[in-house]
Amino acid sequence: MKNKFKKISSILATKFTKSVITRMNAGGGTNLPGRIARKIYPSILGELVDQTKKDIIVVTGTNGKTTTAGFISGILTSADSTVAHNKMGANMLPGITCAIIDNASLTGKMNKDYTLLEIDEAYCTKAVDEFTPDLFLVTNLFRDQLDRYGELDTTAKKIREAIEKIAVKKQLKVVLNADDPIVAFICKDVDNVDTLFYGFEKIQFLNQESNITGSKEVAACSCGCKLEYEKVFYGHVGHYSCGCGKRRPKLSVTANASIDINHTDLNIFSEETGEFSARLNMPGLYNAYNALGAIAVAIDLKLPTEKIIAGLSNYNTIFGRAETKLINGKTSLIQLIKNPIGATEVLRTVREDQNGKLLIIINDDYADGRDVSWLWDANFELLNKYNKQVVTSGIRAGDMAVRLKYAGIPSENIYIEENIKNSIKHCTNNLENDEKLYILPTYTALLYLQKHYK
Ligand SMILES: [Zn+2]
Repeated sequence: MKNKFKKISSILATKFTKSVITRMNAGGGTNLPGRIARKIYPSILGELVDQTKKDIIVVTGTNGKTTTAGFISGILTSADSTVAHNKMGANMLPGITCAIIDNASLTGKMNKDYTLLEIDEAYCTKAVDEFTPDLFLVTNLFRDQLDRYGELDTTAKKIREAIEKIAVKKQLKVVLNADDPIVAFICKDVDNVDTLFYGFEKIQFLNQESNITGSKEVAACSCGCKLEYEKVFYGHVGHYSCGCGKRRPKLSVTANASIDINHTDLNIFSEETGEFSARLNMPGLYNAYNALGAIAVAIDLKLPTEKIIAGLSNYNTIFGRAETKLINGKTSLIQLIKNPIGATEVLRTVREDQNGKLLIIINDDYADGRDVSWLWDANFELLNKYNKQVVTSGIRAGDMAVRLKYAGIPSENIYIEENIKNSIKHCTNNLENDEKLYILPTYTALLYLQKHYK
């Protein structure tokens, strides 16, 4: 009885705190309510997730979690399934707890076919102590800051540890990006694991002056040698092998992609489905990979191809409204960026405006979402023919600069100024009379602009 009371209090407290935060317009606040819930009733997350009627699906990896999970959710929904999903991208335990409580009744009943959770790579091992996934997808592993070279192996080990923990309890399906050599061997020789690999055979860029893959990076094999690449699609992702015999695994789901400036056409093949085509209403190589990961999951769940196709083409997010104001006497267009698709849309506008200059301000406070890996899913490659200076600012100015470098923008055209006020001064001082400043802030940076530049 006492436990039941605690559980209901935990759910009530979360729903109440969240509604207060929303009404106060404090933005994004899922962390505090989730923390309160876990304090009152520590097993709340596990007890809710355990009620899932069909499968518990986890998506992890450095880049593309939010978009990949969004695609999976779109496909499941088009197949008439109900899904509990942390779709706002709060992917650490308090945020996940809050998102799942949103799907529960006050008495703690959750009536969903699937639970779909994107989880921060570093939190996977902790998360699987609370519930046991049926299916585990790893998108890719990249270092997300220039100074964090050594951490990739540690992250890979953490994910492996999570997979091992689950496999002790039950048979697990692991879906892996075979084109990423760091991901492909992540659960090699783990017992009780059934692995499904996906990857691209051919990737083609249409109506774009050049291939937009940005910089390349070679990964090392576990034997210590450098991997040999037959094809590099981006970073260390491609077709690889090593003299020691290690090579890209045999794929269960393969695809070719034609990537246009506005959309992506995929031609997919698996033994279960045969060949079929799907169109994504968004460009970008990263998104092609995100979609293929979702397709592999859907094929494993035995969803019909027409539902997969419909789910992928339906996936879209809302593009926020822009605001124009005079800052230091110069015309400035401020556009909130908070997700890959929205950001990609803004970038397309900026690229087409010959008189525009660009300032990107990235913060990672709670209201912004602490995880800025979605920057990798936005198509910053659109800027690689943009020959003006791009200024990055905010707490994560450095990460933004790294992303631009990967997108193929020369280092000498990237200017980092973490202090927002100084970055704006730098931009407006360098603006010609007829030029317009495009400012792309995350949520808390937008609040700063609204407060200081009325
Ligand atoms: Zn080797």
